[in-house]
Amino acid sequence: MIRRAYHHTKIVFTLGPATAKPDLLKKLVAAGTDVCRLNMAHGSHEWTRDAIRMVRQICLEENRQIAIMMDVKGPEIRTGALGTPLLLAPGDSLELWSSPIPEGMPPGIQRVTVNYRGLPEDLKTGDTVLVDSGLIRLEVTATSALSVTTKVLIGGELGSRRHINLPGVHVRLPSLTEKDLDDIRVGIEEGVDLFALSFVRDAAAIEELRALLKQAGSPAWIVAKLEDQAGLRNLDEIVKATDCLMVARGDLGIEIPFEQLPAVQNKVVKACLAHGKPVIIATHLLESMVENPFPTRAEITDIANAVREKADAIMLSGETTTGKYPLECVDVMKRIIEATEPLNGREMNLTMPLVSPKGKLVRSSIVLAQEMGDAAIVLFTRSGHTAAVAAALRPSGIPVYAFTDRLSTFRQMLILWGIEPFLIEFNGLDFEETMARAFHCLIRGNWQIPGDRLAVVTNTVASGRIIDVLQIRTIA
Ligand code: PGA
Ligand code: MN
Repeated sequence: MIRRAYHHTKIVFTLGPATAKPDLLKKLVAAGTDVCRLNMAHGSHEWTRDAIRMVRQICLEENRQIAIMMDVKGPEIRTGALGTPLLLAPGDSLELWSSPIPEGMPPGIQRVTVNYRGLPEDLKTGDTVLVDSGLIRLEVTATSALSVTTKVLIGGELGSRRHINLPGVHVRLPSLTEKDLDDIRVGIEEGVDLFALSFVRDAAAIEELRALLKQAGSPAWIVAKLEDQAGLRNLDEIVKATDCLMVARGDLGIEIPFEQLPAVQNKVVKACLAHGKPVIIATHLLESMVENPFPTRAEITDIANAVREKADAIMLSGETTTGKYPLECVDVMKRIIEATEPLNGREMNLTMPLVSPKGKLVRSSIVLAQEMGDAAIVLFTRSGHTAAVAAALRPSGIPVYAFTDRLSTFRQMLILWGIEPFLIEFNGLDFEETMARAFHCLIRGNWQIPGDRLAVVTNTVASGRIIDVLQIRTIA
């Protein structure tokens, strides 16, 4: 029997000016958030280092760990700084310059720089350029060596450093820019648990980051952000190469026709389930709560939909970086998760092929826990792999307690659907003693009480060899 409130779907929040304060952060950690995201599109290295240390400090004080995910911006194109915003009306011409704008250009045409040299080469007449989350729409009318001339289709006010989307255009920016490499170095030094990589277009981008992390000895997991058509085209190889995926609906909703978003989200979640990879649903889940204390009915339903799809985690962005109600957002998410999860049936995810005998044992442990009637599962893992398999099977209604002796694994497992991680010391010679420590943790934390029954995936020694076993144990 479960003694403590428990839910499967995890919550990621993004740190920003609204939440990077000790008192608020304390409440966010205590409220049960699982992962703190740092968006490197904003924030200096100094801010980032301070923020990471503050999160770690507060976790110590609160005696509850959360994982830290550094989100690097990848091949992202932005307009340059502007002294005063440009007012763009339909029919106007706007020039995008990939170099500084030369002196003495004829008046009558508005001009702005972009941070990508290859822009004139990658674009051709007729292509669409979307600026500032698609609010401004431009059509390319001509290109030259250093600039692109566009016609304004949908106008608006163009401020400084606005994000540019080029739907369907093959952009030859490297997957990891100089800035990304600098940011990642800081992340490795500060020991972040996950690196999210924006605009992942193929598996090569992930392999590049993987090699970098390996070289630096970082155990961090990689979260591939799917945000454009190239990423979707290569979904299969990306899912295989990555540790985790993010459906980055902010950019995705601009890069593809928006009506395809629900179908694409569903497809990506299913692909992740079939490969046993965790998946995060991101952006605009509670956008209206940036300003308002209550969600819209549509937002409530959107979150419920992500829970029904059994995504591992749902994410807050603007809601917790600059929003007025960051704590309320977490509370709203929790309430919707708790109200919706019971609707998910007891069927396991059978789309993932279980190759290893250990994986099959984990599946048997779920069947056993279900048969015993609401028993919980206990497993032990160094790399987190066994926990990832258990999570991917989606054992609705069954708590999975995953014990590890590695701090990085402990924090990474926080992203996994339904996994409650614990950090203990393993006794590599005495599995009984390790198990006793695990049970002690469960009782101390009021997760279980004496007399509760558990399905335990562990090891034992038989004829001098270590073998995997599944046991039914009753907490003494
Ligand atoms: P971003 O990514 O917030 O870094 O742009 C998420 C998204 O595009 O949805
Ligand atoms: Mn994005």
